[in-house]
Amino acid sequence: MKFADLHLHTLFSDGTYTPEELVLKAVDAGLACIAITDHDTVCGLAQAIAIGRDKGLEVLPGIELSAEYGSQEVHVLGYLINYKLRGFLRQLDILRENRVMRVHKIIGKLNAVGINLDTQAVFDICAGGIPGRLHIARALVKGGFVKSIFEAFNKYIGDKGPAYVLGFHFSPQDAIRFIRDAGGVSVLAHPHCLHNDELILKFAKLGLMGLEAYYPEYSQEETNFYLNLAKEYNLLVTGGSDCHGNAKSEVKIGSVKIPYELVEKLKEANDPASSAYSAIRKAQGLKQMNPAPSKSSNRIKRRCGVNKKEGAG
Ligand SMILES: [Zn+2]
Ligand SMILES: [Zn+2]
Repeated sequence: MKFADLHLHTLFSDGTYTPEELVLKAVDAGLACIAITDHDTVCGLAQAIAIGRDKGLEVLPGIELSAEYGSQEVHVLGYLINYKLRGFLRQLDILRENRVMRVHKIIGKLNAVGINLDTQAVFDICAGGIPGRLHIARALVKGGFVKSIFEAFNKYIGDKGPAYVLGFHFSPQDAIRFIRDAGGVSVLAHPHCLHNDELILKFAKLGLMGLEAYYPEYSQEETNFYLNLAKEYNLLVTGGSDCHGNAKSEVKIGSVKIPYELVEKLKEANDPASSAYSAIRKAQGLKQMNPAPSKSSNRIKRRCGVNKKEGAG
């Protein structure tokens, strides 16, 4: 049986592996397919796809976008995107500029509270990728200002910290549309982080096409809960480890792996020649006209740890 891990980060966002390392580790883990889903960037894709081809590993093009709904951070994964589209790349450039500006602002606030971290130290760690809070946290650890990434978030750069700066975020609708415009399939990442399952139907009505039902530490009960929701709302199902390499060393590539059959469904849903393509779009249209109340929307207890904040960049 073939397996896939569809949620992985490289050092082009806030992971620590190069695309090549990621591919080699995925091969070692016995995976048949991976997706690279860096935050706001597709820089690692071409290299990973080419190396994957050499090593017999299928690499799907992906991305992870941060959106905001009220005060809620929402991560939307995009799969099978046409990552060479010029308009799409131009938008990503703007996102990158926003993130760079945000780093400067955060460093300014850190300096104001007596933490003399240099901006360059952050960009060195980021190594040309998309800078985020995790890079700042790592620079704070490296500079001896804090002992751990957790402390960096908790004491300084987390949402309640003195050096917090709100980043640019799409609305969920814009993130979904952005992915669709790039020819991709939008999937809600780590849905437990919403702490409100009713939003899933809301996003499905905005055109969301899938749900990440397999995620590290999800119990069988949690996974089943999301599998049922996906069925009820006609959403595709994905899953992955959200591995960030050594930045979150406890999460290994392939620690969450899904049957390859789900990758096939993803592809069918994105293939205009397939009946699944029109079926899922028709279901989306019907949902918009007839938003039936959810039978499965009773929340079950789930957690959202520091992982989400770190992953959020
Ligand atoms: Zn992620
Ligand atoms: Zn995420």
